[in-house]
Amino acid sequence: MTDTLAHRLEAVQARIQAACEAAGRSPTAISLLAVSKTFPADVVFEAYEAGQRAFGENYVQEGVEKIAALSRLLSPDAERPDWHFIGPLQSNKTRDVAEHFDWVHSIDRLKIAQRLAEQRPAHRPPLQVCLQVNVSGEATKSGVSPEDLPALAEAVASLAHTSGRLVLRGLMAIPEPAAQLEDQRRPFATLRALLAQLRANKTAAPLDCLSMGMSADLEAAVLESEAAGTCWVRVGSAIFGARPRP
Ligand SMILES: *Cc1c(COP(=O)(O)O)cnc(C)c1O
Repeated sequence: MTDTLAHRLEAVQARIQAACEAAGRSPTAISLLAVSKTFPADVVFEAYEAGQRAFGENYVQEGVEKIAALSRLLSPDAERPDWHFIGPLQSNKTRDVAEHFDWVHSIDRLKIAQRLAEQRPAHRPPLQVCLQVNVSGEATKSGVSPEDLPALAEAVASLAHTSGRLVLRGLMAIPEPAAQLEDQRRPFATLRALLAQLRANKTAAPLDCLSMGMSADLEAAVLESEAAGTCWVRVGSAIFGARPRP
C-alpha cells in the first residue's frame, strides 16, 4: 500500500475496527477526530475528500484561519465538517472559539465556560463541550483535578441549562504517555469511572462522551470506552504524518 493520506486514514479506521472487535464494542460507539494541527487546509481537504468529517485543532488563530480556508475549498453545497477545539484555551481567546468551532474538549475552569456561553452566537447551535480532567496528577498538565471535577461539572451543567448556549457532553483526558497497553488503559478507566460518577450524581447534562486516545494508545481507549455513548479518539500523526517541531 502506498503511503498516502487516504491509506493512512484507512489504516487508522482498521485499527479502530480491530480494537472494537477485541473489546466487543460496536464501531458506531467510536468517533474518529482527525487532529490536523500544524497541517495546512489543503491537507485537511484531502482528508475531507477521503471521507473524514471531524477535525481537531489546538491553536485558536491557526484553527480559525484553517476553518475559513477549508470552507473556501469546499463547494457551497458540500457538507461542512465539524471543528473541535482541543488545546489549552485562555480567556482572551474564547470569542474566536465560540464563533467558529462546534466542540471544545479542553474546558478546565468555569470562567472559560462562562465566556464561551456568553460569546456563542445565537445563530449557531449550542457549543458541545467536554471537561478536561488531569488523570495523571502531574503538576504541569492542564485539566481539572478529579477532586474538583464534580463541582465544575455541576456548575457547567447549570450554566449550559440556563444559557442554552452550551451542552456538557463529557470528559477528556491526555494522560502521560505509556508504552504498555495495561498502563495506557488505567487512566482511561479512571476517566470512564469519573463520567459514570457524574451521571450517578445526577448532574443534569447528557454526559455521553469520552474524549481519549491518540495515535499511540487508541486501542487502549477503545477497550475502556462505554458501550452506550461516544468515544472520540483524537488521532493526528497516524493520519497526517509526523508534525514539524514547534
Ligand atoms: C496533538 C494532539 C493529539 C494527536 O496526537 P497524535 O499523537 O499525533 O495522534 C490528540 N489530542 C490532543 C489534545 C493533541 O494536542
